[in-house]
Amino acid sequence: MAVLPKRKILLSPPHMSGKEENYIAEAFQTNWIAPVGPHIDAFEEEMSLYLKAPGAVAVSSGTAAIHLALDVLGVKAGDTVFCSSLTFVASANPILYQGAEPVFIDSEPESWNMSPQALKRAMEQADKNNRLPKAVIVVHLYGQSAKMEEIMQICQSYEIPVIEDAAESLGAGYKGIPTGTIGDFGIYSFNGNKIITTSGGGMLTAKKKKHLEKAKFLAQQAKDPAAYYQHSRKGYNYRMSNVLAGIGRAQLLVLEERVEQKRFLFKRYKEALEGRGYSFMNEYEGSYSCRWLTTAQVPYKTAPSEIVSYLEKFDIETRRIWKPLHMQPLFAGCSYYSHIPHNNTSEMLFHTGICIPSGTNLTGEEQLFVIEKLEEAVKANNVRVSEISNLK
Ligand SMILES: *Cc1c(COP(=O)(O)O)cnc(C)c1O
Repeated sequence: MAVLPKRKILLSPPHMSGKEENYIAEAFQTNWIAPVGPHIDAFEEEMSLYLKAPGAVAVSSGTAAIHLALDVLGVKAGDTVFCSSLTFVASANPILYQGAEPVFIDSEPESWNMSPQALKRAMEQADKNNRLPKAVIVVHLYGQSAKMEEIMQICQSYEIPVIEDAAESLGAGYKGIPTGTIGDFGIYSFNGNKIITTSGGGMLTAKKKKHLEKAKFLAQQAKDPAAYYQHSRKGYNYRMSNVLAGIGRAQLLVLEERVEQKRFLFKRYKEALEGRGYSFMNEYEGSYSCRWLTTAQVPYKTAPSEIVSYLEKFDIETRRIWKPLHMQPLFAGCSYYSHIPHNNTSEMLFHTGICIPSGTNLTGEEQLFVIEKLEEAVKANNVRVSEISNLK
């Protein structure tokens, strides 16, 4: 039996490289303590280089980046926006900020991400009703890319712009291309739990330079190019601080290393637990996952919430998979298209999936402890048939 670790094992705590403080010190020495400054420019430049993107705009959060993309595309009240259902609420909240209405699209089982079949049915129906969406928000969940080729084909045939929510997938690729740079817009998050962090922050990229310029303009209160404060439309205060951009620059230096560490953690979990009835989110052909969080489906006839509460007793944080947005009270009444009629992938994943500690600062010993407890949890979890049949 492994030795009980002293600290609580978290899902994905921040992992500093040690160089962040040099960048912060530089910001202080030069007194750039503002949402403008050289770290911001450099961070945008370095992200663009890393992503091979035409440019990037550093903002205060990933949510802000989605909001800016929707605003640049002119999404407004009365419009609809298609969005992955299996995701964090932040993917869809900006649709509400614009007064528009989300339509949720199910996942497909191979990638766990947006089902091209469901998307196609939703587009055909919307076309028939003369209500094509203003945009499609595709999420790359837990570090794995959605099936972008099929999704782009469908969206392009209806000329609908695509926003990639790559908040969880910085460092991941699809057929060799970084996630977030395939569609018209890509957004990233540097929240405290993400693969790299600035404590809080985000980044927006776009294919078109004019989209990026517009986003930057909107993120700074939409100030007209006049010699005084003149404003012709609504804007936002969404720029990233120069201090935090410094943290981001230091974090970006270790991104590749973090991806390797995350992938290694995943591999170890899979090797140890697959024979114990757990099944893992596999990389499908063409996908390169950054493994932001290792996710697994619990063994047959065990309930994920039981596993979560069992590990909690040992100070190990595990979490259920995101509850699909079409099941959220906030979005009651919104349209939803399942993968195959009457066959919900996202609901099935919600009822069977958990996220396992994936911090890159997890020690080998701690990971073994987590594995041991995940095995034990199955034994302790004596078939909660009542819970399984009451799922909803
Ligand atoms: C974290 C996250 C966001 C939001 O990012 P913030 O920087 O926290 O605003 C959006 N979408 C997904 C899928 C996320 O996981």
